[in-house]
Amino acid sequence: MGEGHYLAGLDLRGRKVVVVGGGSVAQRRLPNLIAAGADVHVIAVDPRPTVEAEPAITVHRRAWAEGDLAEAWYAMACTDDPAVNEAVVAEASARRIFCVRADEARRGTAVTPASGRHDGLQFGVLAGGDHRRSAATRAAINVALAEGTALTAAAATPHTPGVALVGGGPGDPDLITVRGRRLLAQAEVVVADRLAPGALLDELGPHVEVIDAAKVPYGRAIRQEKINEILVERARAGKFVVRLKGGDPFVFGRGFEELEACVAAGVPVTVVPGITSPIAAPALAGIPVTHRGVTHEVVIVSGHVAPGHPDSLTDWSALAKLSGTLVLMMAVQRLDAFAQALMDGGKAGDTPVALIENASRPDQRLIRTDLAGAAATAAAEQLVPPAIVVIGPVAGLDPQEGESA
Ligand code: SAH
Repeated sequence: MGEGHYLAGLDLRGRKVVVVGGGSVAQRRLPNLIAAGADVHVIAVDPRPTVEAEPAITVHRRAWAEGDLAEAWYAMACTDDPAVNEAVVAEASARRIFCVRADEARRGTAVTPASGRHDGLQFGVLAGGDHRRSAATRAAINVALAEGTALTAAAATPHTPGVALVGGGPGDPDLITVRGRRLLAQAEVVVADRLAPGALLDELGPHVEVIDAAKVPYGRAIRQEKINEILVERARAGKFVVRLKGGDPFVFGRGFEELEACVAAGVPVTVVPGITSPIAAPALAGIPVTHRGVTHEVVIVSGHVAPGHPDSLTDWSALAKLSGTLVLMMAVQRLDAFAQALMDGGKAGDTPVALIENASRPDQRLIRTDLAGAAATAAAEQLVPPAIVVIGPVAGLDPQEGESA
């Protein structure tokens, strides 16, 4: 039925829309109706809990009755009873209200397109009743828009000058967010960390200035100050700058210092969260950082300084007393000291430990050990950064063995 239909955008703000039926079809239509600002009334004998609990609509828990479409601008017949759906469409037609019919689209007077949204854009696809085709087309458009490939030179609106602090995820270019990837496609300058997904840099056009943060020359200022200066200076020169980091910008990534520098300089700055390695690395290795009945806390700890070092802000004896999950980052070099500090604080030497190296990269490794043996195992296995250390009962969970921890 794609042919013969006229695609329109309905202004439903504050207008009554009646949805008859409260099952899966209604559930799937509601978010877009609500987003359009419609005054949605669902009439259903037995609405699903998610429909009934939706605060932005009015649910009438009863059977549909003739007259229910009074004052409506639009209607949807989506019960599982064809006779009811037919009657709803009949009432709608008598009132000259367009009505979608879920069970037999042809017998309604309107159809719902497969629709999508992207950055202030809305689109709909009708494929003559071929739902798979319209859904697949919608998915293809979504991907194309998200990846920026659909933005031809003409359509690609250059980003306004400023800085985006973008979390690139743990390394696999697939694990950046859709927003991060889109902003990267618009970048004029990219300042990338060593741990940022390198493959993403290959996709940048030749006009993009790529600055390797690890190689930024610095003199009297420390490197971070120099990076801050570059971000501010390029943005002030009218460029859109993406600061691409590994994981999440605010998890041991010094992102907040860069945010502060931009704010202090009056440069517009936005933060795009990323998939952070202390949670993603275990997940990629099949280890959950929480598990019902096993752990009720996750503590993410930096191993940047040794226990007892004057700069250390970590109370290792307090961590030793927690029964849940400890995730150590930047901890490879001093693993013996951390394990010892935890055991000194009372954590059992046989507490399971998992070491995950190069998570999401082709050479990802998972090594299982325990707290007493962790440092020796890491040395024997030649564990190298970047690696995540998971300490606690979850590190011993193996789906194949059930809850053997
Ligand atoms: N902002 C980053 C962390 C930067 S600190 C994030 O949110 O993930 C650097 C530490 O992150 C490394 O020492 C290591 O502990 C961890 N790390 C980052 N990427 C990793 C990866 N792919 N595999 C294992 N650990 C990783």
